[in-house]
Amino acid sequence: MARLDGSVALVTGGSRGIGAAICRRLAADGASVVVNYAGNESAAQAIVDEINSAGGRAIAIQADVSDTTACTDLVHRVAQEFGSLDIVVNNAGIARDGLLMRMSDADWSAVIDTNLTGVFAITRAAAKIMIKQRSGAIVNVTSVIGLVGNAGQGNYAAAKAGVIGLTKSAAKELSSRNVRVNAVAPGFIETDMTAELSDKVRESAQSEIALKRFGSPQDVAAAVAFLASSDASYITGQTLAVDGGMTFV
Ligand code: NAP
Repeated sequence: MARLDGSVALVTGGSRGIGAAICRRLAADGASVVVNYAGNESAAQAIVDEINSAGGRAIAIQADVSDTTACTDLVHRVAQEFGSLDIVVNNAGIARDGLLMRMSDADWSAVIDTNLTGVFAITRAAAKIMIKQRSGAIVNVTSVIGLVGNAGQGNYAAAKAGVIGLTKSAAKELSSRNVRVNAVAPGFIETDMTAELSDKVRESAQSEIALKRFGSPQDVAAAVAFLASSDASYITGQTLAVDGGMTFV
């Protein structure tokens, strides 16, 4: 028996990158998976087809997590479709980088709305279901940038630091009902988000990483699957860095 057999998992931003790897991994571990996406229907459907043809169960649902009503509707649809909601992975995220002095209100708000308010709205809706079930695991995908900050990423760092505070607060609120809330903080991971980095930035980043390489989406997915599983049943409120040793002190 696989460790997530019988579980229902919702992964926001599951169509590409880290989210897609998380969907594959949770499905391989036995969970039924809802692959949420914003606009890339064909990518989401490809992940769903891959999981279903390997003998798993997955469906895709479009929802923009920066819209709090859409978040509530998404969670309700999952619960209706599958009858329960055991695992939520708040992974959807965007970057709109720029130095603070030149950052537009729109770039600030887009990142806060998607990367922080979206996590709040999904968690609020999922918590109601998990509290009734008296079980559940929420894993938030934050970033090492939320721990250490980064020039040119004030909006992203604020949102990701906010997710860490939200993770700890939700863990304290929900633990008495057997709902665990944790976070993973990836460092530099090979996805569309980091594909745009110049060779110079890439080399400088690699020199700061103890393991001297970028991580893979699978590296993050393995940590998420662990925190979502009963192997982590005594772990809540934690943020696990998956960063090749970039930020440890
Ligand atoms: P990515 O390759 O750019 O994929 C982003 C995913 O999020 C896509 O599935 C996208 O859906 C979805 N998404 C974006 N905006 C959304 C919205 N408003 N509503 C619903 N879904 C939305 O990103 P990634 O690199 O895999 O990053 C995934 C998470 O890891 C993010 O939270 C990111 O901040 C975090 N992270 C990444 C790194 C890294 O090095 N890559 C490091 C630290 C943390 P569509 O396909 O429909 O556009």
